[in-house]
Amino acid sequence: MPNMDPKKHEMPVQAPDVRNKNFDEVALGYTYEVAVEEAQRCLNCKNRPCVEGCPVAIRIPDFIARVAEGDIEGAFDVLNESTSLPAVCGRVCPQETQCEERCVRGIKGESVGIGRLERFVADYHRENNTKKPAMPEPNGHKVAIIGAGPSGLTAAGDLAKLGYKVTVYEALHVAGGVLSYGIPEFRLPKAIVNQEVQNLIDIGVDIETNMVMGKVLTIDELFEMGNEAIFVGSGAGLPRFMNIPGESLNGVYSANEFLTRINLMKAYQPDSKTPIQHAKKTVVVGGGNVAMDAARSAMRLGSDEVYIVYRRGMEELPARNEEIEHAEEEGIIFKTLHNPVEILGDENGNVRGIRCIKMELGEPDESGRRRPIEVPGSEFEIDCDSVIMAIGTSPNPLISSTTPGLDTNKRGCLITKDDSGLTTRDGVYAGGDAVTGAATVILAMGAGKSAAAAIDEYIKGK
Ligand code: SF4
Ligand code: SF4
Repeated sequence: MPNMDPKKHEMPVQAPDVRNKNFDEVALGYTYEVAVEEAQRCLNCKNRPCVEGCPVAIRIPDFIARVAEGDIEGAFDVLNESTSLPAVCGRVCPQETQCEERCVRGIKGESVGIGRLERFVADYHRENNTKKPAMPEPNGHKVAIIGAGPSGLTAAGDLAKLGYKVTVYEALHVAGGVLSYGIPEFRLPKAIVNQEVQNLIDIGVDIETNMVMGKVLTIDELFEMGNEAIFVGSGAGLPRFMNIPGESLNGVYSANEFLTRINLMKAYQPDSKTPIQHAKKTVVVGGGNVAMDAARSAMRLGSDEVYIVYRRGMEELPARNEEIEHAEEEGIIFKTLHNPVEILGDENGNVRGIRCIKMELGEPDESGRRRPIEVPGSEFEIDCDSVIMAIGTSPNPLISSTTPGLDTNKRGCLITKDDSGLTTRDGVYAGGDAVTGAATVILAMGAGKSAAAAIDEYIKGK
């Protein structure tokens, strides 16, 4: 008999006034007992609507049924069939708009906590399992992957499980892509990313770091090295700016640079070798998850006041609700329906404030969202000593510009011919932010998965 409690078991978290001063993980995870009780809320629906909401098609009712029986390792085996990064997905996947949105328990109450259960199973396995995974039987074929972010790692894992010799080339000195440099420790501890990367190395995936592809090696050279297909999952690491006066002042960061210094180079630790400004008042421009991450990180670095400036309203903020709520609880001040027009500097070239204009919402634009319109004569200033631009990123053009026949659209994203991720070059597939522009981790993983299946078919058909 299922547990018919309409409420999902709450996720325990650090108290807001404690966590906004440290970089430890905010969410603490379910205990074994709570996980089993939550799993017992699942109705094991025959038509499995939740699975349709999962971009990597995890057999959700099957893994949850095993948790409900207390067979956590069995649950992990089910997850492992579909995802190489379950501890990551359970933490950063926007479940509320994916699998959990389709859950039938959500009709008359709250959905089953699918993401929380996925996180529990992955953490339990990491903490308790001592067995190394079995090495897949080699099939004699070689594939190269460019980028060790969510799409590249997913494609690598799926292809390695099919017996391919997979080499992943990563531009940075560590694997993980946005999981390592972009998402802060308090949302996704790097030890967890490293462990999921290690799981791939354990099944034979070779990861070569410090390899800026397009400079060190080209796609043509990768083919000459015997790779039969190539997957490009190089992400979207080129920050956008607003092109307003004052963006070159000291104290203006792209969210990418700010978060990379903190996440990868541990700028918050006193002995860190990379400097980061510990601003008294920080303004973050943007309303997505990256903006929330930057604002919450600035607060943890010691800013007394942190503002989010966003040109649409609270309803339109693109960040996950959970991230917005956590940011509000931690004291971030939201200035929605405001847009910066100039960053103001002092006589030494340092940021001293930002001038904004109020906005109101007009008719929907081509994106379907109501267009923000300036309110004439409503300009005002916010004092601050740091401004972080979190208004999006574009793909780096290094790979497309060094690969004949690899076409991009006007936003610099690689053009793919179909859902498999096939680009305009034979044998070259792509997915994730390099194709879509900045999107979510789970969509990138879904693209990596589809491309891996297509690469397998392509090589078998040769
Ligand atoms: Fe849900 Fe995301 Fe896990 Fe799929 S990967 S089951 S969408 S939380
Ligand atoms: Fe369980 Fe919800 Fe999926 Fe039904 S829709 S199988 S209740 S998780």
